Amino acid sequence: MASSSSSSNSAFRNGSSSAQRPLKPLTASNLKSSSFKSRVHPSHAPLSSFRRSYPSTLSASDDGVLGRVRVAVRLRPRNAEELAADADFADYVELQPELKRLKLRKNNWDADTYEFDDVLTEFASQKRVYEAVAKPVVESVLDGYNGTVMAYGQTGTGKTFTLGHLGEDDTSSRGIMVRAMEDILTEISLETDSVSVSYLQLYMEAVQDLLVPANNNISIVEDPKTGDVSVPGATVAEIRDQQSIVELLRLGEAHRIAANTKLNTESSRSHAILMVQVKRSFTGGEDALSSEIDNSSHLVKPSKPIVRKSKLVLVDLAGSERVHKSGSEGHMLEEAKSINLSLSALGKCINALAENSSHVPIRDSKLTRLLKDSFGGTARTSLIVTIGPSPRHRGETSSTILFGQRAMKVENMLKIKE
Ligand code: ADP
Ligand code: MG
Repeated sequence: MASSSSSSNSAFRNGSSSAQRPLKPLTASNLKSSSFKSRVHPSHAPLSSFRRSYPSTLSASDDGVLGRVRVAVRLRPRNAEELAADADFADYVELQPELKRLKLRKNNWDADTYEFDDVLTEFASQKRVYEAVAKPVVESVLDGYNGTVMAYGQTGTGKTFTLGHLGEDDTSSRGIMVRAMEDILTEISLETDSVSVSYLQLYMEAVQDLLVPANNNISIVEDPKTGDVSVPGATVAEIRDQQSIVELLRLGEAHRIAANTKLNTESSRSHAILMVQVKRSFTGGEDALSSEIDNSSHLVKPSKPIVRKSKLVLVDLAGSERVHKSGSEGHMLEEAKSINLSLSALGKCINALAENSSHVPIRDSKLTRLLKDSFGGTARTSLIVTIGPSPRHRGETSSTILFGQRAMKVENMLKIKE
């Protein structure tokens, strides 16, 4: 499974990508039903200190905190059709969650065994998946690190269910996006901190705004000095309560479907990216030690708060199937490129990083430029690879598992920028 490869393997490693841009006002015509800024949220007591020490799974060094990309595999439950076909349903895949192992059967006698950071069976609840995959990343983001949670897998295996499910009828089925925003809103103080989101779709190398669809050719900008990546043209919505995030995600989802219908494409060919900016102000705690005594009034002056900006990127990737089918043979590269240049570029970057190659082709696609920080960069990254239960999925499952295994070899160097 994971290697403990050297940390100097990356062309991604310069700087973080925490964007710093003014909030764009949302116009009523674009966001009619929303109330993003208007609701009053009960205030939370400001945090008195940096809450957490570095997670024990990470080792500290002079440069920052070393963190390998964490990878979980999730098996989708059988749907009605698959349940009906039960008779011919050979268990081509066997999950051993307690051992964190997955066995992919080659024939009746032999199977390949793979280890992951987490193995999530068809019975794993959305809550369990969130806690295993996303919660540690969200906690890091609240501490000031950048973070990424990404879903990869064949179309129909549960990427959108895992990340983007709104669960409006049944809150227990809510996906990672809603849960992450809820945790962030619970933890921050709306008096001193802020959280805002942009929701983007990347299709055929064009970055489109899912909040304001007319805004469909957004550039990715990289700060030449710091290397920070931002999308200054994207709409930014400040979030103050739980309901706002559900409304915003619903709006984005509707625009995603509308845009794809208009272009006569399938959403499985596009990547959906929720970018969450968190800005926090930390006071007291350790800082109190350095507070100055004001001799004239004998009052303790609070020390200047430390402001930290961090970014959480949640990515529902395009279906992985076509890239493998046309790309793995090599001779249909052009087709693979036109179908999803970004997804194949991501695979190449992960391979290069896993092999400690000196050249990581990050500039080959918009997706890898946007995710510069997520692989071999300074973000804490969690990947969930999704697989299907039918023996028909076997070939794609095998490719998906290998993608996940390679991603487990990628190391990031977590850093806080103040
Ligand atoms: P993808 O985004 O990978 O193409 P979806 O998330 O759209 O796949 O999932 C395909 C179908 O399977 C959807 O109807 C979805 O609701 C359902 N589904 C996926 N995962 C689960 C799960 N863990 N439990 C119940 N239904 C699921
Ligand atoms: Mg989907």
